[in-house]
Amino acid sequence: MTDEINPFELAQKQFDHVADMLDLDEEIRAYLRWPKKEFHVRIPVRMDNGELKIFDGFRVQHNDALGPNKGGLRFFQNETFDTVRALGTWMTWKCAVANVPLGGGKGGVVVDPTQLSDREKERLLREYVRLLWKNFGPRTDVPAPDMGSNAQMMCWFMDEYSALSGQYTPGVVTGKPVGAGGSLGRMQATGFGVIVTVREAMKHLGIDPKGTTASIQGFGNVAQYSATNFVESLGGIVKCVSCWDRFDNKSYTFYREDGIDPRYLMTITDQYGMINKTKAAENGYEILDGDSWLHQDVDVLIPAALEGQIRIDNVDKISSRVKIIAEAANGPTTTEADETIKKKGYFVIPDFLCNCGGVTCSYFESVQNDANFYWSEKEVLEKLDEKMTDAFNFVYSLSVERNVFMRDAAYMVAIQRVVTAMKLRGWV
Ligand code: NAD
Repeated sequence: MTDEINPFELAQKQFDHVADMLDLDEEIRAYLRWPKKEFHVRIPVRMDNGELKIFDGFRVQHNDALGPNKGGLRFFQNETFDTVRALGTWMTWKCAVANVPLGGGKGGVVVDPTQLSDREKERLLREYVRLLWKNFGPRTDVPAPDMGSNAQMMCWFMDEYSALSGQYTPGVVTGKPVGAGGSLGRMQATGFGVIVTVREAMKHLGIDPKGTTASIQGFGNVAQYSATNFVESLGGIVKCVSCWDRFDNKSYTFYREDGIDPRYLMTITDQYGMINKTKAAENGYEILDGDSWLHQDVDVLIPAALEGQIRIDNVDKISSRVKIIAEAANGPTTTEADETIKKKGYFVIPDFLCNCGGVTCSYFESVQNDANFYWSEKEVLEKLDEKMTDAFNFVYSLSVERNVFMRDAAYMVAIQRVVTAMKLRGWV
């Protein structure tokens, strides 16, 4: 049996569960169960072959009680309004748990970016901005790169917005290239933060990180820097990573008993996080089926690809040796699978805490854009480490104090911070 996954229903279920624990009143629940503003645009793009194609685009602004809406812009063929709603809702909780003064938003375009030329991608992105630009701005809503989008695309976003608004506005997006208003450290920020939370979890669980093992799903931006930091900062061994192969239309796991070399694999991975199978096999990597990453006898599992990957039909395949599940991706675990995970006692670092390094660094980028003064990479990563450590420990302390699951504790911290701001602003 598989549990059908609608990510927005999952986000609402998770919220309802904690709203009960916090005994939130009905008015506040009604406010927070749905995004405050939603946009759906149909984006016309002239393709290189002269044909006009129309793409669906979304932007959702969930809640801005703590500050401007903030969240990625995805280019993904399976994007739906509900995925964007879910991700926008999670951004509200993520910014709140990270303790940065930002609200939650998300955007998506229904497109397979691998099928577009760079010029087509640029036209699509610029048209999206033209349709929605009045709803964006450094004090309104600030997108960032996400699945299928990148620093170059953020630069086009900033350029188009600046032209339309008549003023250079680097702070309208984050995740820009360094040299065009971007922050040093942003590229590795999410994966770096994932491993800070793993390090802190290990401290509390009394685990010496040196020589511990990990299995990672995905090998895009987040997975790559989770892997390098697990190996280089913690002295751990990553047994395998995985990726989606768009030519075969299936996923594969790349395994080495003595540990993969993430820096090498990065040299044979394309911009969409697809590893070259032939080169990997020539270099001693075993190529296993796409689900194998979940069954490994390792200390840490890091889902870093997509939502809905740990489900009721596969949760029992997780090894009893696993101690920590670090949710680097957004929404990788269904609520039904969560129940099994709780019973089995795996220590979960919930997604919006685990992967909040990206948004925290985005916040640093906005601060640098506002001040027009840029920090060194060392300074950025030190500040990020401090913020992530504080965020993790705040949630962990509450989970111990209230004897609740880490996901519930993270939600309690986040929801309470948002509700406090809403009350102070006189909204409820
Ligand atoms: P990405 O596009 O760079 O990489 C995605 C990776 O997942 C690729 O390696 C792809 O091959 C792989 N993948 C896709 N489908 C797969 C499947 N079925 N099985 C195995 N692998 C598969 O994306 P990313 O930026 O690394 O984001 C990954 C996740 O982290 C997403 O859930 C995203 O929303 C979340 N996230 C990203 C950031 C960020 O800063 N990039 C921040 C927070 C959360």
